[in-house]
Amino acid sequence: MSAYESWGRSIPSRPARVVETSWTSAVPPQDDLVLPYGLGRSYGDVCLNNGHTLLDTARLTRFRRFDAGTGVLECEGGTTLDDILRLAVPRGWFLPVTPGTKFVTIGGCIANDVHGKNHHRAGTFGRHVRSFELVRSDGTRLRCASDENAALYRATIGGLGLTGLIVSAEIQLRRIESPSMTVERVPFRSLAEFDALSRTSDATHEYTVAWFDSFGGRDSRGIFFRGNHDPAPPAPKMRRPTGEPLPLPVAQFAPLLHPLTVRAFNTAYFHANARPKPQRVDYDPFFYPLDAIANWNGIYGPHGFLQYQFVIPEEAGLEPVGEILDRVAKTRLASFLTVIKKFGALPSPGLLSFPKAGTTVCLDFAARNTDVLLPMLDACDAVVEDARGSVYPAKDARMAPERFRRFFPQWEELRAQADPRFSSSFWRRVTS
Ligand SMILES: Cc1cc2nc3c(=O)[nH]c(=O)nc-3n(C[C@H](O)[C@H](O)[C@H](O)COP(=O)(O)OP(=O)(O)OC[C@H]3O[C@@H](n4cnc5c(N)ncnc54)[C@H](O)[C@@H]3O)c2cc1C
Repeated sequence: MSAYESWGRSIPSRPARVVETSWTSAVPPQDDLVLPYGLGRSYGDVCLNNGHTLLDTARLTRFRRFDAGTGVLECEGGTTLDDILRLAVPRGWFLPVTPGTKFVTIGGCIANDVHGKNHHRAGTFGRHVRSFELVRSDGTRLRCASDENAALYRATIGGLGLTGLIVSAEIQLRRIESPSMTVERVPFRSLAEFDALSRTSDATHEYTVAWFDSFGGRDSRGIFFRGNHDPAPPAPKMRRPTGEPLPLPVAQFAPLLHPLTVRAFNTAYFHANARPKPQRVDYDPFFYPLDAIANWNGIYGPHGFLQYQFVIPEEAGLEPVGEILDRVAKTRLASFLTVIKKFGALPSPGLLSFPKAGTTVCLDFAARNTDVLLPMLDACDAVVEDARGSVYPAKDARMAPERFRRFFPQWEELRAQADPRFSSSFWRRVTS
């Protein structure tokens, strides 16, 4: 990542200043609006602070304490999930919840209250945060937990970096017997089939998620991935791959991202993956397939891309999901990667947390043809709003301010807890 951008690379932004934080210098400067910055893996502008100060947490990465008996880990806010996996997996522990990349920080995971493929079993990341230490702009250091500074604890989980700098956090890891997984890939041929598969698989599998070929709307095909941690250690040849992600010259493939080529890719992907027989695989390619290529977001070319993730609550049924998928198919704007999952009902402690029981869909669009793309996404927002769902701020670069405030009516409670010196491009956009 260069130049403190966000992962979608669609919003030009330049901080006026970047201040490196570390354990010796964690007090934010007093003379400007500040925002903590993790690894910029948010897609839109929640991690941007155009014209103001970013607090870079790249040096806030020390482990403070790890109890290999209980799996309680205390580490600094800039520690990455990759760092934690390297420490924990060989000792029989795993992340309680992980997003689809391990190149994110603990501070970022708390501030967006991220979710993973096990939301139906484990809820959001915030549920596994026992406590954290928050530094406010006046220099106050506060320990926050469900029974200590509880209002700030709730506001900071999913609080978009606005309540202060998370200097360290105490996380409860989950036990594993092996670094390998048993995984099945089940082909399906419609949204309704996906839904039925999810309902049965969520009872038997800890991790479930599906890839969806969105060209055919709600009647598209897809591959349903379901997996469990293995109960036994792996065979010797199953050792996890080591090494850094490959930096590839992906930008040169940008012209190939055309609906016709994406359609052909989807056909090939579907047939290559339609293998329901259980397979043993290492955890890394199962959880983080995209991490193998360091800069894959460059494939969208100079204008970047928009990711659109929404949730439709269980009570609204599948119809609004189908309506959105049909709309997307009708515009013929190819979503290059569409992912669909059912969230479970476990509540988050976070005030502004995004997940709720229901169906979530994530679509990626190149940020071109915006005269068609943006009105289409606005129309999808209206469907989401009618269904009482919401759009995920961590992925957002364009939702209208009124919509944000209706999706998250609790935003005023967050504003009351926010630090007066903390702000972001996103927050100014949706609350001004
Ligand atoms: C390939 C890929 C897959 C993804 N899959 C998922 C997924 O499955 N589920 C999901 O929920 N998300 C997913 N995401 C999104 C990503 O997990 C979140 O955006 C995450 O918050 C990014 O963390 P970061 O460390 O890069 O933080 P940044 O993007 O830099 O910042 C995110 C927010 O955290 C705040 N912040 C960062 N550090 C601190 C700190 N120390 N103190 C206080 N606030 C802080 C920032 O101010 C900002 O508001 C994915 C992203 C990618 C690129």
